[in-house]
Amino acid sequence: MRRRISLFLIFITMASLTFQPVSAQASGPVYIVQPGDTLSYIASRFNVTVNDLIAANPSVDPNFLSAGQEIVIPGLEGVTGVLETEIISLGDTLRSLSRRTQVSDEQLRKLNRLISPSELYVGVGLIVPTQAQQEPLSTRITPAAGESLLELAVKQNSDPWTLTSLNKLSGTWDALPGDILYSPVAGGEGNATGLPSAFLSAGIEPLPMIQGSTEVIRVQAREGVSISGTLVDMPLHFFQDIGGQVALQGVHALLEPGIYPLLLEATLPDGSRQSFQQMVLVTSGNYYSEELYVPPETIDPTVADPETRTIVSLTNPSTALKYWSGVFSSPAIYPDQFTSRYGTRRTYHGTGTDLVIDGFHTGLDFAGGEGLQIFAPAPGKVVFAAPLTVRGNATIIDHGWGVYSGFWHQSAININVGDMVEQGQVIGLVGGTGRVTGAHLHWEVWVNGIQVNPLDWLNQAYP
Ligand SMILES: [Zn+2]
Repeated sequence: MRRRISLFLIFITMASLTFQPVSAQASGPVYIVQPGDTLSYIASRFNVTVNDLIAANPSVDPNFLSAGQEIVIPGLEGVTGVLETEIISLGDTLRSLSRRTQVSDEQLRKLNRLISPSELYVGVGLIVPTQAQQEPLSTRITPAAGESLLELAVKQNSDPWTLTSLNKLSGTWDALPGDILYSPVAGGEGNATGLPSAFLSAGIEPLPMIQGSTEVIRVQAREGVSISGTLVDMPLHFFQDIGGQVALQGVHALLEPGIYPLLLEATLPDGSRQSFQQMVLVTSGNYYSEELYVPPETIDPTVADPETRTIVSLTNPSTALKYWSGVFSSPAIYPDQFTSRYGTRRTYHGTGTDLVIDGFHTGLDFAGGEGLQIFAPAPGKVVFAAPLTVRGNATIIDHGWGVYSGFWHQSAININVGDMVEQGQVIGLVGGTGRVTGAHLHWEVWVNGIQVNPLDWLNQAYP
């Protein structure tokens, strides 16, 4: 998502300066101050010292930065315009970014301190200078195998020489099949990506990925092409949706922030394969920590581990039917009263023993005691309904496409394995069975083998 709001104002400002004599004041690209920015943040963002920033901006009071103010960034000879942040999306390369923004590879590397083009990670914000008088090129086009630049130009209502110059090609012969080119004409064919030819488009959101987030991977492919892939180390399961093939994947709450691979593979009708891989950024969920004192048998690994393996195997299959549609509804009577949120780092102490186990809170705990009704948050099929040592009276509902809901610690279970449930149906009653410090409802959501933040499912519709 690019910010262009300020461009028009800058254009006006620059236009009014045109008739003034050339002055000796500091020159260089400008950064527009954003709410919450400090001079030291801006200095570190652009790898300059605070003193250099102050020297380059003599009229700026470092103690009173205000949003919308222009700050000249020194030390970037040859770069002009307004410096903005652009989030790298799937398929972007340094070459394609350079074409889209009309900024040279060299300047992009210098601005972003990139050592190698392979450092372009999906979800990372890249600094890009934009010129007031020049809108970046937004129409992406890709030559198909055997297609000449002339044919492409005709389709784009342009000419090969314009495309050659805009895309900094050394000649009309220099466009390769599958390459991303930019066209000055709005409304291209929309098949343009840096992806292999079997893909029409591919995307992942939200970006950057966050510990505990649910990621939606959406691919449009040519006819007869089936898509597979992996995200981090999880095999993706793609299903047909309106406008393409979709996979849902949870990001583990304890996955170290960093960069991880997203691999997409297309299997063509003739059995041949094309694959594409790019690194994607995972950021921290900024979760809290807490210490809990519980009966030691509920954290004894010889009991807890086999139980966890049972839950993992129950929530592993990816059912091809999708039972739900739209946003999930709250399973609890008091929908916004939480006693513990997802992701909290937990240390469990076995009371009266020296048993200590580390983990994280895999679901959302709702306030409200013994006997309150529990509702199915979305339609699905019951795949488990029985007592467990750690989780107490437990129910698991399969919502399809690898999405499951788990309900623990109930005082009563109202449904049986194999039942189909409707959204809002009463499936059980709140209780204090299993590893608890008091009666409450624990609800968790699994997405393709990983527990995710359930609040996301109450706030937005997936996929
Ligand atoms: Zn819980």
